[in-house]
Amino acid sequence: MSKVKTYLRKNDRVMVMAGKDRGKVGKIISILTKRNRALVEGANIVKRHTKPGPNTRGGILEKEASIHLSNLMLICPKCTDPVRISRKILEDGTKVRVCKRCGEAIPTEAK
Ligand SMILES: [Zn+2]
Repeated sequence: MSKVKTYLRKNDRVMVMAGKDRGKVGKIISILTKRNRALVEGANIVKRHTKPGPNTRGGILEKEASIHLSNLMLICPKCTDPVRISRKILEDGTKVRVCKRCGEAIPTEAK
């Protein structure tokens, strides 16, 4: 599978745009680059039945399932809405993401 270019990064606040959790807002826990998917905190929760093992009691485990990157939109901290993003390269060569609506740069959280 080819890698999709994405402006989304870990710890971004995003809105889910499709599926059963459409409209839900959460933070990106991790990005599965090779699969073009991401895990979003509290979104697309699936229940997994686990069998009791040596270290687990078993039962129902609730876990985030991945969502395709094309179904996620970054939330602009200023507009507080999901927005379209453009990229800009600053004079010092730093690449920034810019909200197409308000023109504000949206920082990526380091880590
Ligand atoms: Zn904005």
